[in-house]
Amino acid sequence: MVYENILEAVGNTPLIRLHHMTGEEDAQIFVKFEAVNVGASIKTRTALGMIKAAEREGKITKETIIVEPTSGNQGIGLALIGAVRGYRTIIIMPDSVSEERRKLVRQYGAEVRLIHDAGNIGECIRECMDTALRMAAEDPRIFVPQQFENQNNVRVHYEWTGKEILEQADCKVDGFCSGIGTGGTISGVGKALKEANPKTLIWAVEPEQAAILSGKEVGSHLQMGIGDGLVPKILNQQIYDDIVIITDEEALKTAKDLAAKEGLMCGITGGTNVAAAQKMARKLGKGKTIVTILPDTAERYFSTPLFDEQ
Ligand code: PMP
Repeated sequence: MVYENILEAVGNTPLIRLHHMTGEEDAQIFVKFEAVNVGASIKTRTALGMIKAAEREGKITKETIIVEPTSGNQGIGLALIGAVRGYRTIIIMPDSVSEERRKLVRQYGAEVRLIHDAGNIGECIRECMDTALRMAAEDPRIFVPQQFENQNNVRVHYEWTGKEILEQADCKVDGFCSGIGTGGTISGVGKALKEANPKTLIWAVEPEQAAILSGKEVGSHLQMGIGDGLVPKILNQQIYDDIVIITDEEALKTAKDLAAKEGLMCGITGGTNVAAAQKMARKLGKGKTIVTILPDTAERYFSTPLFDEQ
């Protein structure tokens, strides 16, 4: 079988059982390995879903310029789609996200505008958003998908990521946890899982230095892609049962363990999610099944402490 183009190969990622990350009496953990998705992250799904919806709704034409504020992976996904579909794409991102992200966006032929992060990621992301909206107000060719507000982001995870997980786990999911960037993953997958089994326990996961839902101060942290220092409009705050906080150290150590013990090369937030899943595994105990996400690949983090020698 031959795909017409790379976009037809998006999705259908494996769900993989962990063997060395839990104790004898713990629940088992399955991870959705989005590192092997097209574009090497879960965000290719949402980028594609939002652009397809905009095309259907006639919001974009061949002349359209796609402009999006993002802390990284969404920008890589949009740049990839722009390359295939022929849209000029401009990505606005904080200068604190990894250098690899900028390089990848540029390699896909898109442009990058960097906004300085002076130590408060929330303020910086808001500035990225304001810049995108200002550009759109000045140029009618510009379309801003607005992932933090776009319900198609949630829909993609409800209809696609969530459905894949249910099929792969044979609908037997007792717990799910996810960090929150736009909140698309937790709101969409959470809805799909709760509909299949209302008793599924769902935890929102926050970085210690950006635990805004837990009422804490927002600063800088390493768990890039989550903890953007704002409460996203599309986040369904009714969908999760509890919130857990994960430190940068826990996230890094767990991501390193996933590579060295399980052969799963994931990014830092994959470590965040599995660190939270390990806590849930102790709580739910033997016989239960927990699913979480490894949102992207470790190869996006060579320039970060994920690859510091110990
Ligand atoms: N991890 C990484 C690496 C990401 O890029 C994102 C997307 N921002 C997330 C987690 C969180 O996903 P969501 O936006 O669906 O909340």
